[in-house]
Order: sequence, then structure tokens, then C-alpha cells
Amino acid sequence: MALPTHMQALTFGGKEKIVLSTVPTPQVIRPEDVIVKVACAAICGSDLHPFHGREGGIGKNCTTGHEFVGTVVALGNNVKSHRIGDRVASPFTTNCGGCFYCTIGATCRCSHEQAGGFGWVDDEQMLLPEKDRKANALQGAHAEFVRVPLADATCVKVPDSITDEEAILLGDILSTAFFAAENGDVGPGKAVVVVGCGPVGLLSILAAQQLGASKVWAVDSIPDRLAMAASFGAETLNFKACDVLATVRAGTEGRGADVALELVGTSQALRLGFDCIRPGGTLSSIGVNTDAAFPFSPQEAYGKQLTFKCGRCPARQFMEKLMPQLAASPPEARPPYTRVFTHRMHLHEGVEGYRLFNNREAIKVLLSCA
Ligand SMILES: [Zn+2]
Ligand SMILES: [Zn+2]
Repeated sequence: MALPTHMQALTFGGKEKIVLSTVPTPQVIRPEDVIVKVACAAICGSDLHPFHGREGGIGKNCTTGHEFVGTVVALGNNVKSHRIGDRVASPFTTNCGGCFYCTIGATCRCSHEQAGGFGWVDDEQMLLPEKDRKANALQGAHAEFVRVPLADATCVKVPDSITDEEAILLGDILSTAFFAAENGDVGPGKAVVVVGCGPVGLLSILAAQQLGASKVWAVDSIPDRLAMAASFGAETLNFKACDVLATVRAGTEGRGADVALELVGTSQALRLGFDCIRPGGTLSSIGVNTDAAFPFSPQEAYGKQLTFKCGRCPARQFMEKLMPQLAASPPEARPPYTRVFTHRMHLHEGVEGYRLFNNREAIKVLLSCA
């Protein structure tokens, strides 16, 4: 199929400004590339970091977004595992499949020069034509088309029984939720505190339950989010209205929880997670924290017998595991993951989608891009 020369995309227009723009349609640049016609894309909490113009952010006119599913419409000469017409999902970063990190499953830390995050081209690189940019400076997926480098190792073919919405969640936040829970060593009989009920926190409740947690407390203060957490089976704790620590201790014979999953990215949330766990417990932190120091001391960590894990989810690795599991279960038996999409709209309404999401009026926004 001949691609149109131009397409619609959401682009970064400067601090807290997203613009619906007409931009050139991406082309195959390297032989490992595919071009995906985006069926739908989602707005993620990670999109809000550059949106707020935080340091090291993206350049003006860069297309935003990294959560998408779609169909392969063009491919480079070296692409072996995908064909035109394949329905594919992708993690939020590209990876080569062959380097040290990919081989040990840390696909999010791939060392290949083309490994990068979608929707992340800085101001300097934006001045160059796309083919002359650094190989890991990738445009985003809030668009009608997106170029995916290293497509053999990055894209995952989506089984027919997996919906577009499920495939998008697997590419980032559902995989991240399972990563958080696995890092927290959640298992049968564990008492778990989830700090932060944004989309990843809500899915972490379901992930913890899938892994056998006997009890999940969910901490937030936003009524819609607490209501969804409750509907997922968590005991909700509004930290503005109750004593979280006292409640968790009361429910664990005074010890504290076995696990805290922290999904906010602030030191206040991390400290609450630390305080909520018992000695010998595990603190799993997924929120992107830009502070310079931990909110607990080495002495406190020692006294707590602390196990602490953090970092970015190797989503490609988790997709490979979770997608067949999900595909094997009948749709009516699947956990209600896609309920986190509270707002569904068209790419053309993406500016409003960002507004709703940034104001926390939406839990998660799905954009149909066709
Ligand atoms: Zn994301
Ligand atoms: Zn690699």
C-alpha cells in the first residue's frame, strides 16, 4: 500500500501544550524497520513528564506517545518475522534481542544504538531530518503511523483473541504492574499495600491478586480511583482521611505488610511504602522518582531487613510471557484490566484527552487513530 505523504499526529508544542498537527508520514529508514498503521494508542503517565516540560524532556514538534497497537504496512529488507498485514503490539522501547541485556531479559536496557523510547526526540535532534537523527531518537505513536526500528525483536504479533486494548496495556502498564508485583515477591498468602491508584497501581492490584496475594490495600485520595480499586477487590485507604499505617498494622497482627508496591514516584509515597512493610518485607518501587536521596536512611533499611527493588519494566520480556497466558483464557474469565480505560476518543480529540488525563478526570485515555 502506498502511504500518504502526510498524517495527523499529536505533537509537543511546549510546556503543557499538545497540538494536533499534520506531519510527514514516517518511512522505512533502516532495513530492520517496520511502519505500523496505528489502530489505537493510549496516553500514559510517562507522557506527562515531557508534557510538563521537565528537564531532559522532548523537543518541540516531537510526536508524543509510546503505547500503541496496529498493522504492519511497510517493512525493511532485513525484517524476517513480520509481514505486511500483521497485527502487532510493541513495548514502549525498542530492543535488539541479541545484546547482553536482551539476552538476560532486561530488554528495557538494550545497548543497541537503535534502542530507544518512542516519542522521545530532543530539540537538537528535531532540527535534523529523521534519517539523519541519532538512531535511537524515535518519534511517538500518537499518530496515524509510527516507525518501529529493530522490528523483529521489538514487535510482538498479537493473537486474534487479544483485543487492541489488552495489547496496548501489555506493551507498557500491565507488564509494568506484573513487574512491580514480581519485584515485590508477591505470592500466595502475601499481604500487599499498593501506594498510588493511577492506571499502573490499579493494574498492580489485579496483578498481585493473580499472583496469589491474600490481601491488598490500595492507597490514594482520588475518589474515582479508590472506587475502581475497591471494585477490583482491594481494601481502599484514603490517606487524607484515615491512618494508613495504623490500618495496615491492625490487619497484620501489628507487623506491617509483607510487600509494598509504590507507583507514584514521590519520596512521600516511597516513605509510606517503607513504613507499611514489616521487617524482612519487600519494597518495590516503580514510580519515576527524580529526588536525589532516599526517604529512609541506611540505618532504617538495615533495621527493617529491607529488600528494595526499582526500575523500568522490561516490557518486551513480560509481553512474551503474559500475552500467551491472557490469550489462553476465555475473554469472560480475564481480569478486568481494560476497565482502566475510562475515556475512549479519536486521535483528533487527543488534546482534550491530555487535558482530562492531566487533570485526573480520566484514569486512562484510549485514542483510536484509524
Ligand atoms: Zn506508558
Ligand atoms: Zn539488545
